[in-house]
Amino acid sequence: MRQACKTTGLIFLVTLPCYAHNLPFALTHGQRMADFISLHTHAAQQSYPPSCLYVIATPIGNIADISIRACYVLSRVDAIACEDTRNSAQLLNQLGLSKPLIAAHQHNENEVAQKIIQRLQQGESIALISDAGTPAISDPGAKIVDAVRTAGLKVVPLPGPSAVITALSASGLLQDQFSFVGFLPSKAGQRDQMLQSLHDVAATLVFYEAPHRIIDTVTALSALFPAHRKIVLARELTKLFEEIHRCSLGAAGAWLAADAHRQKGEYVILLEGATPDQDLDRIEAQRVLTILLQSCTVKQAAQLAAQLTGQKKNALYQLALHMHDQTQT
Ligand code: SAM
Repeated sequence: MRQACKTTGLIFLVTLPCYAHNLPFALTHGQRMADFISLHTHAAQQSYPPSCLYVIATPIGNIADISIRACYVLSRVDAIACEDTRNSAQLLNQLGLSKPLIAAHQHNENEVAQKIIQRLQQGESIALISDAGTPAISDPGAKIVDAVRTAGLKVVPLPGPSAVITALSASGLLQDQFSFVGFLPSKAGQRDQMLQSLHDVAATLVFYEAPHRIIDTVTALSALFPAHRKIVLARELTKLFEEIHRCSLGAAGAWLAADAHRQKGEYVILLEGATPDQDLDRIEAQRVLTILLQSCTVKQAAQLAAQLTGQKKNALYQLALHMHDQTQT
């Protein structure tokens, strides 16, 4: 597409990619146009070999977070593998692009991987995107990437939005390490067991959560982790009603209950990890349970430990269960 472009007194004709006209930063001003052309040139300078799978991050809310390089590669590949073809068609439409789409979701990843490999072997380039954020991060994609690599073909990532990194960057939580858990199991027993196994991890814990389970999950965290730990509830990131709330775990339930809107929308939950000086209660609980489990059932041990230590029975039960399981393996 040719367009007149005026920069610093000179007028010249440039060929703009179609997505440039749909990019949210309006290209009406000459200097901005020059900036865009310069960035576009940078995107084009990288080598883009054929027979390659490009793994491309897309926005998690605000479409303006798409990168110029993502647009560049999406406009040049032969086809795009995507989780939901309707969602991706809409994204491409907003970017002024149209490409053949290949449905690649969790139920067909293995078969699709083989089709993608055949096409790559014939010299095509294919992009892999998910509905939002970075493919393969709590989204389909890992099996396709694995199969493509196993077939000896090239995989090139194009970095961009991901809810985990977005939330962490604005959390102010100081631990250098984080442990990405993603979605917890939906069954309460399995969820609590997993949480128990994470209790002593000395890294910020990162969970993804769907709106309909946010209260249950925060309730489960409150039952199993010390109330003084910091929690960050990051909701609707990059969207109109974005909220990032930091408080103690003990205060999180009340914050959620205070406004019905807070029980809607997509969440990233960040929970401060264990710190050696903070979890003296845990050390005491383990000491008491170790003795009790020698002669009592898990349930009895938890009941007695609650009386002896004044700690929560449910948390002690989960801990006793965990300790008991470990002695069995
Ligand atoms: N691949 C995506 C990524 O890189 O972040 C994650 C996809 S996963 C299916 C969807 C979950 O990510 C949501 O349930 C929520 O926990 C989190 N998420 C995605 N977008 C979000 C947003 N805008 N705000 C808060 N959390 C978000």
